[in-house]
Formats: sequence, C-alpha cells, structure tokens
Amino acid sequence: MNEVLVNIENKVKNGQRLTKEDGLALFACNDLSWLGYLADTARQRISGGFVYFNVNRHINLTNICTSRCKFCAFGCDKDSRQAYGMSKARALEIAKAAAQDPDLKELHIVSGLHPEWPFEYYLDIIRALRAELPHIHLKAFTAIEIWYFAKISGKTVAEVLQALLDAGMNSMPGGGAEILSDRVRSQVCPEKANSGEWLEVTRTAHKMGIRSNASMLYGHIETLEERIDHLISLRTLQDETDGFQTFICFPFHPGNTELEGQITRTSVWDDLKTMAISRLMLDNFKNIKAYWIMLTLPIAQLALGFGANDIDGTVSEEKIMHAAGAKSSKYLSQETLINTIRQTGRIPVERDSMYNIVKVL
Ligand code: SF4
Repeated sequence: MNEVLVNIENKVKNGQRLTKEDGLALFACNDLSWLGYLADTARQRISGGFVYFNVNRHINLTNICTSRCKFCAFGCDKDSRQAYGMSKARALEIAKAAAQDPDLKELHIVSGLHPEWPFEYYLDIIRALRAELPHIHLKAFTAIEIWYFAKISGKTVAEVLQALLDAGMNSMPGGGAEILSDRVRSQVCPEKANSGEWLEVTRTAHKMGIRSNASMLYGHIETLEERIDHLISLRTLQDETDGFQTFICFPFHPGNTELEGQITRTSVWDDLKTMAISRLMLDNFKNIKAYWIMLTLPIAQLALGFGANDIDGTVSEEKIMHAAGAKSSKYLSQETLINTIRQTGRIPVERDSMYNIVKVL
C-alpha cells in the first residue's frame, strides 16, 4: 500500500478528518476490501453496531413538474399520459390506509414542482394529515420544493418553512441535492435551485430547528472530484448546523430519462466504493443510509459492510425511482428488513424518523 493510503488509514483510526486529496486518493484506490474495512472501522466508531430501519410510507402528490431534470424519469408535463395530481382527499385516503398498520411511524412526502398548484394547496394537505394522523411523523418536501414554494408564493424561505411547521410538518427529506456543482446542475437540472440555494434553504431549515437528510445522486455527468466536493459541502454545513440526520447516496438509473443510451448504470464496485468513501469523508454524520430501493436489497445488504448503518424503511409504493426502472420491490416487510440485517451479523433496530429507538430486535 502506498504512503498516501497508509496515512489515510492512520487518520481514520485516529478519528482525524480526511482532506479533498484524501478523498480523491480513495477513489483512485481499487482495493475494495480495504476500503470496506476502513469504512467499517469508521462506522463502528461513529455509529456502533446497530442497523436502523423504519416503518414508513411514501406519498408523491404529483409527477407534473416544471423542472424536467434530465436525470429524472418521474417528472412530466401536464398533458403527458402518465401525468397525475392527487386531491387532498386521495392523499388522506392513502395515508389513512397506511396508518392501519399500527407500526407506521412516518409519511415521506415529495413531489414534482407543479406549475399551477399554489403553496396553500400543500399547506392544506399537511394540515389535513396532521389533523387525521396526529401521531405520524410528516417528513415532507425537499429543499428544492421549499425553494419553489417560496418562488410561487412570494414568501421568504423562512416564512414558507414556518407556515409548514405551523401546519404540522416535522422534518425534511434530503432529495434534490443531486451534485452540488453548478457546472453539473446547469447541464442536467438548470431550472431548479442551484447549489448555493439548496444549501441556503437547508441552512435556514436547520437554524429553525428542522432536521433534514442529505443526499447525492451520482453516476451521471459528474466527475469524482465533484463527488468529493459535494461531500465536503455537506460536511461543512453539518459543522455549522448539525442539522443533518443521515446521508443517502443514490446511483443514477438512466432508464426512461433523457440520458438513457448515453450513460450506463453504475457498477456495484462504484456503488460500494462511493458508499465507503461517503462514510469516510462525512465524519460528522452519525448515519449513512443504504437505500435499498435504488441499490436493490442485495447491494444494500452488502453496503452494510461498507459504512452504512441504516437500510431505510418498508417504504411502500415508491414511484420516483421506479419510474427510472429501479428493479427493486416497491415494498418490503419488516420481517424481510430484519432478516436482511441479521444475516450480516448486526443488530436490527426499528427507529422513528428522529432516530429514537423504537425496538431493538
Ligand atoms: S427530479 Fe424533481 S424537480 Fe427534477 S424533474 Fe424530477 S420531480 Fe421535477
């Protein structure tokens, strides 16, 4: 092993922060088992032996979207045959049906940027869900959606967030970060919030006490250096606010997107390296999630040996990733998740949305 990698290993073992150059050296290293060993060492120190999952349900209110990002197979125009928009009654019906499961803890609500719905529509849905299901955590709207609500309502980001808090929202998911590089964003998602805007919405939310997640969509047009810069941007914001609960990295699925035929799905090798390097760079993130929907369950299970300590949830009815041809199931039972975790020799723990322990299994 070369001197640079020996130095990185010593830093990880001593709990020292890795630099951008260290991150690039890790991407240049193809000793996957060593990367896994190193990430697992960091995971054990930072997160311990538990592997978390939760019982949740996704609701995607609409797929009609003004942004039409090149990597997205979910968003579409209003007159597309696939277009749909849910009424408040339909959203409530889905939520109430999901809440028949006494273990349900969370509704995860993300949607397209609808060209006609006013901000009041979303507030109304959150109010109605809160009134019907007071015990369910509402993890709703990415930083991109919050930025869009501010744009369409004429309110500031802080005013939008306060209105959502007053309506009953609890926390925010981590989507929309993609790659925090304006070179990349100007090519694949020029219509939506730029890197600085995504970070600023998130900073504002954290400063108001709203916890959120962070994500990275990799494997499209970004360079490895841009992946590392992305991780460092998140780490810097976490130093400032400590508002991120977990980090999730999504491999890009080209199916049914504008980039189909130009880019192929990342290799498992890349997925595991990216997972491990994310764990190593994000030394101030307690949790790293292996999102089985995007990775598939076997790769998510393997990722638990590459720095991940969370395997997401039962999910139910995921639409966004499946529009791009994700081959995973749309739902997993608790039993399947528990067995998947147990097979790795780790301890499954059901958590709530704030990472409070519900049950050690
Ligand atoms: S990624 Fe989000 S903002 Fe972009 S087209 Fe898809 S739904 Fe719209």
